[in-house]
Amino acid sequence: MVQDGWHPTVCYQCKAECAILAKVQDGRVTEVKGNPKYGGKACVKGMAGVTLQYAKDRLTKPLKRVGERGEGRFEEISWNEAFDIIEEKLRSLYDRGEGHKLTYSFFPHSLTDPKWHFLNAYGGYINTGLPHCDSGKIVSEIKCWGGIPNHHIPPAWFTMPKDGIILLVGRHAFGCLDDACVPRDIMEAMDRGAKLIVVDPIFSPDAAKADWWIPIRPSGDTALFLGMIHHIIENDLYDKKFVEEWVREGDFDKVKAHVKDMTPEAMSAICDVPADDIRRLAVMCAEAPAVGVDGFKSIMLGQALDFGHAWSIFLAITGNLDNPGGQPIPELTPLSPVEPQPPGPPPLNEMGFHRTGPNRDAFRNYSFIMEPTWYEAQAIKDGSLKILLVTEANPALTEMGSKEWQKAVCMKDANGEYMLEFLLNTDIMLSETAKYADLVLPDQTHFERYELLYMPWWYNFGHGVLLRQPLVKAPGEAMHSNLVFIEIGKRMFPEYFQFKDDVEYYDIQLKGLGLSVEKLKAMGGKWSPGTMGFRKYRDGGFGTPSGTVHLYWEDLEEVGQQLPRAILAPEYDADVEEYPFIMISYRRIHINGTGPWSSNNAQLRDPASGQSTNPAILNPAAAAKLGIGDGDTVTIKSRTGELRMPVRLTEHIRPDCVGIMHGFGATVGRVAAGAGHCDNELIPDAGSHLEWQDLIGGEAHVSTRVRITR
Ligand code: SF4
Repeated sequence: MVQDGWHPTVCYQCKAECAILAKVQDGRVTEVKGNPKYGGKACVKGMAGVTLQYAKDRLTKPLKRVGERGEGRFEEISWNEAFDIIEEKLRSLYDRGEGHKLTYSFFPHSLTDPKWHFLNAYGGYINTGLPHCDSGKIVSEIKCWGGIPNHHIPPAWFTMPKDGIILLVGRHAFGCLDDACVPRDIMEAMDRGAKLIVVDPIFSPDAAKADWWIPIRPSGDTALFLGMIHHIIENDLYDKKFVEEWVREGDFDKVKAHVKDMTPEAMSAICDVPADDIRRLAVMCAEAPAVGVDGFKSIMLGQALDFGHAWSIFLAITGNLDNPGGQPIPELTPLSPVEPQPPGPPPLNEMGFHRTGPNRDAFRNYSFIMEPTWYEAQAIKDGSLKILLVTEANPALTEMGSKEWQKAVCMKDANGEYMLEFLLNTDIMLSETAKYADLVLPDQTHFERYELLYMPWWYNFGHGVLLRQPLVKAPGEAMHSNLVFIEIGKRMFPEYFQFKDDVEYYDIQLKGLGLSVEKLKAMGGKWSPGTMGFRKYRDGGFGTPSGTVHLYWEDLEEVGQQLPRAILAPEYDADVEEYPFIMISYRRIHINGTGPWSSNNAQLRDPASGQSTNPAILNPAAAAKLGIGDGDTVTIKSRTGELRMPVRLTEHIRPDCVGIMHGFGATVGRVAAGAGHCDNELIPDAGSHLEWQDLIGGEAHVSTRVRITR
């Protein structure tokens, strides 16, 4: 499709979406490296994209289910037949006036994605497919300073000044989601004189690089930050100028009163970090020229909204908003809208299945942005979800509540019809989710498709747009999901789909920048203003209703979340006698951050170079008390499930915890099937702790209490 040589495009082996160069020889991708024009960063997983590209498990034809859901029996059909089936199913729901009962689960990696356009025309919703990630943090940032949400907005470590502080809280940056850019930026900042401090029950690869490792008790992070906030306020170490000018009047006093008794000693008892260390860290942060905090999903056990709130208050009172090295506040790039713009679905809290648990009524006014799989399952049962479309997500395996989801999608009504009327999955390989789908469509890899990538913030360079472009031909009849939904959109809503294809759609959007796909290609695939634009609030204020920073959330008073609570997650104290350990999941680069295809990549699962198994990690002191030796096979049991798996003894974890790598345990794929174990088997998923999930605002459990026996 392109001439031999190196071509700029964008990796999609994880959600970091690094700008890469791909080498094409005789119509095949043969090598990947970071694009030196844009930081030159690509990780081992990005390079393993070549193996993915030519994997034998690639889907090449549309497949229609012939057995029952879950059996995974299909027959090949033509694209025409597939489009007719999709159109008929979607029309049936839409014509009944129930378009809001459709949800599309895909990773919202770009605001330019034509699938949004389709959903807005249809009146359905998006489920991000990432229920247990950084929702608490995102909600906190929106509420505190009106930040523009992105799936993850790490501080711009490449702007961190000398003596600045990088605070990673349960982050796992070295060996996780955005390996290619974040770790190197951190290392370069450290070379300039910045300090790395890692707060984590596991001595992670991040901790191995750190100046200071703080082995906190799981879910103690809110207490740690509240203790620091107390010390900073009581000792007049806060940024008075920023607080006076930019914090909403009265909010600082409310915070001050709230943390009055949250002394380092009191917080130490909760988070198990010595009071002197809390004080020392607080002073270091208050005196540093910049502090950036990155927590992603906080330290497990949920409670993320409290943590995100405490962390946001901490950043605000130390003056670390939109400053070099601190918390960036993204900027919007002036893309053009694709006219006419469809109206969009009704407000989520009115019509969506947003809250279906026991606290549904209490929470109906709170619109959080991540939707756990568990809720999907309940929505199927109560009839508020009828059509589920899934792209680049694998709810049957990788998300909390997966077992409940599997049961729900197979439930039938009194007439013997599936309660979920239609389940469509598009992916490049069969996944656990595909086994339940009525239709499986072969998708294209990042080497085969066009995409205009735009989020208000990018790990690599701040804000801007990147172009992914097809370099090689897709196998068989693989078609990108964006093209599928442009075709369906043209059939159902021609008034909103007056553009020819995805490239024309992107061309319209790029007009706002005076660009086109062709021009962007000629520029090397990236546009960015080239500046970071710090302290933008000085010109236009913050994005909150008052234009100032809101530390106090009066709209959450009725559910007691107006200020962060200095408590451990309820899970921490549940059934302690019977389940004395906390299972904490952790992430590794080899399989993290993408759909089924990265667990089924032979290069990433190679026993020599990759991660072929995932033994549980356990502290030797704890193991000795149980008579467990290194390499022994043990039973790890929670209130929900149990795993029989080997243990590896290491002092790199607190003695009250056991660590399991997240995302293993696949059952589909010639490389992945049967290797390793899935932490989700242990996570409560049947609503046993739903009230906690409601209270923490979308952040689900990624940890739980367990018992370990030989
Ligand atoms: S960090 Fe992610 S996007 Fe970047 S090169 Fe690695 S796998 Fe690709």
